[in-house]
Amino acid sequence: MTRPDWVPQSVDVSVPSIARAYDFMLGGGHNFAVDREIALRIDLMMPGLRAGARVNRAFLGRAVRFMTERGVRQFLDIGSGIPTVSNVHEVAQGVDPSCRVVYVDRDPIAVAHSELMLAGNDLAAVVRADMRDVEGILTSAPVRRLLDLDQPVGVLMLLMLHWVPDEWEPARLVARYRDALPAGSYLAASHVSADHVGSRMHRAAEMIERSGSPDRMAVRTHAEILALFDGFDLVEPGLVGCGEWRPSGPADIADEPMMNMLLYAGVGRKT
Ligand code: SAM
Repeated sequence: MTRPDWVPQSVDVSVPSIARAYDFMLGGGHNFAVDREIALRIDLMMPGLRAGARVNRAFLGRAVRFMTERGVRQFLDIGSGIPTVSNVHEVAQGVDPSCRVVYVDRDPIAVAHSELMLAGNDLAAVVRADMRDVEGILTSAPVRRLLDLDQPVGVLMLLMLHWVPDEWEPARLVARYRDALPAGSYLAASHVSADHVGSRMHRAAEMIERSGSPDRMAVRTHAEILALFDGFDLVEPGLVGCGEWRPSGPADIADEPMMNMLLYAGVGRKT
């Protein structure tokens, strides 16, 4: 295969990447055969998976608008992924051009494309980091330049926390971000669950493991995901199916009922 010139040298294109497989599900072009294969195999098991990815992106837009309506003007999007349509800065700066956004991802292609997308935007930047490096992220040059951590911040962890296995203690990691931010900050998160699709989601997790991907998907229950919001008051309607979180029109909901429930989504406010 010819190696496209947008692929950083450090990237092994024979190993699937969750960022690139998700890019494929959203109809993007920054993915390779290994990424498409795993995405298609999971889609065979859970038809309509692409609609599930779109429902998640629609939730991102609603969550960002919800936070801007409550006065939030700065955002930290952790596990932001390869840029696609309606990225956080586009939604937030569409409401108020003075909104500031820092994206964080550990995937080199996600970061390289975010840098390209943000060229010329002085109020948004990207940091390449693992979300476990809480200190490093919060003291990074983009965060120091763009975010005032004494003012409320909207933190997004969408389709990200299920890539944080229990051994890494995800609730403690989220709490470290929470503790660094003032009251009035928000956490928006979406997370896969098997509650409505049963063993298929566990089989998908096994498939990812066998694919050679270094990532492991932690399939959690409603109660386990709720625990990740510790210290945040969930706003109405709580932690619900992604398509059920304040849908504002048909584009927010998938035709396949299961795809509205495949992911749980919620927004919590630090009090
Ligand atoms: N948040 C975006 C969304 O919901 O549309 C992208 C979600 S994508 C499925 C998950 C992203 O999380 C990938 O880009 C992956 O590289 C990133 N990611 C996973 N684990 C991470 C970690 N420990 N630190 C930073 N990024 C991580």
